[in-house]
Amino acid sequence: MYTVTNAATDELIEEIQNATDAEVRAAIDRVHHGYASWRRRSVADRAKIVARAAELFAERADELAEIMTLEMGKRINEGRGEVGVVVDIFNYYAENGPSMLADEPLPIKGGEAVIRKEPVGALLGVMPWNFPCYQVARFVAPNLVLGNTILLKHASICPRSAVAIEQVLHDAGVPEDAYVNVFASSKQIPEMLADPRIQGVSLTGSEPAGISVAAEAGKNLKKSVLELGGSDPLIVLDTDDMAETVKATATARMRNCGQSCNAPKRMIVMDDIYDEFVERLTERVAEYYVPGDPADPATKLPPLASAAAADEVAGQIETAVRQGATLRTGGHRITPGAYVAATVLTDVTQEMDAYREEIFGPVVLVFRAESEEHAIAIANDSPFGLGASVYGTDRERARRVAEQIEAGMVYLNSSGGSQADLPFGGIKRSGIGRELGPLGIEEFMNKKSIRL
Ligand code: NDP
Repeated sequence: MYTVTNAATDELIEEIQNATDAEVRAAIDRVHHGYASWRRRSVADRAKIVARAAELFAERADELAEIMTLEMGKRINEGRGEVGVVVDIFNYYAENGPSMLADEPLPIKGGEAVIRKEPVGALLGVMPWNFPCYQVARFVAPNLVLGNTILLKHASICPRSAVAIEQVLHDAGVPEDAYVNVFASSKQIPEMLADPRIQGVSLTGSEPAGISVAAEAGKNLKKSVLELGGSDPLIVLDTDDMAETVKATATARMRNCGQSCNAPKRMIVMDDIYDEFVERLTERVAEYYVPGDPADPATKLPPLASAAAADEVAGQIETAVRQGATLRTGGHRITPGAYVAATVLTDVTQEMDAYREEIFGPVVLVFRAESEEHAIAIANDSPFGLGASVYGTDRERARRVAEQIEAGMVYLNSSGGSQADLPFGGIKRSGIGRELGPLGIEEFMNKKSIRL
């Protein structure tokens, strides 16, 4: 069942039945047949349609933001900001896609060759609720320019976002059989992946979902791209403006109410500034203490995406405290609505669950580092390897530290965020593959060698 529930009030607004197996098969058939004609259009033609989609996303930013606010509790201004990034992504691939897809000459022994960049067919996208528009855009924009067609299964709490996105794309000129939204259940995914008409799958979401989808894709010899969780470290080596550093790091953590895979979740602070950092961070985070309506731009603490998500985060905090972590502020569930008070935890040790888990909510962990090497060791002592940040006044030192961090992305003196032209993705249990930038268009590409 797909549902729309107001995360701020717990009110159930709408229920939508899952697609039947026959409807799922018909949807696969559509994108399969759609591929034959979509791939034959010129790249310039497809890029023009993707550019038109960018214009329509911009025009409908308010409407899309309102849907996200209702469905998953995103603060309205953050929703508008998210659609702004979506517009950038569609524009980026409309502008740069054609040159990325040009033949690449390859001098070879005894002759010459080219690498031709071709699509592979109909793809399945399985998308999450935390950035309902942005996550879809990362997968869809490059693949539409490349010539693949898309069958999209969105999160079951975001049906209205799913329909609104599909409408934008069709209104922009993407043929109705080149992008199809399907209200499939996750139980129908194995059958979809076994279908020979589907050539690959991209999933953004949790580790269990990633494991299940990658296993099914593997069984059927199909490629999967996975963007999973993270528990990104943020190392503070030193600062000449503690207030600013604390503000920047707290803001990055609290973005999207803490539900970003690449938010800095573990602050690792050098011993000599640790006490001041924790004190100021605790004051700052307490500002995110009063729950509010996410539709009100003045709200600082919106709900999490669902009551289940809020219960889980509150449970993780409770476990951490029971296992010996120090609760500096927050920590409690607030009802009605899916709220958790913004939280700072310190003294988290290796034996505690919180040390290794991702906490997908407004919770900051702060660690004390005795030395640069110790900071790097804590940063790398994680099953995840998505992003990382290093703050410091000495750029060379910050860079040296950054180079030793095991992650797919590292930011110097900034944290989190995402932009169209910068590749995004992780290593270790954070996923496989890259999205965005020049790498994002290559994942479902047939790089065909042609010997001339
Ligand atoms: P899920 O991974 O369950 O949901 C993401 C998408 O995967 C949804 O479309 C979901 O469908 C689908 N899905 C779930 N299980 C399977 C499966 N076995 N096979 C195929 N598809 C599946 O995320 P949750 O909502 O459960 O969030 C749990 C945790 O996941 C978070 O706390 C966070 O740690 C992580 N997460 C990370 C995200 C990221 O950006 N990297 C985004 C969202 C979550 P359906 O909604 O129908 O269940």
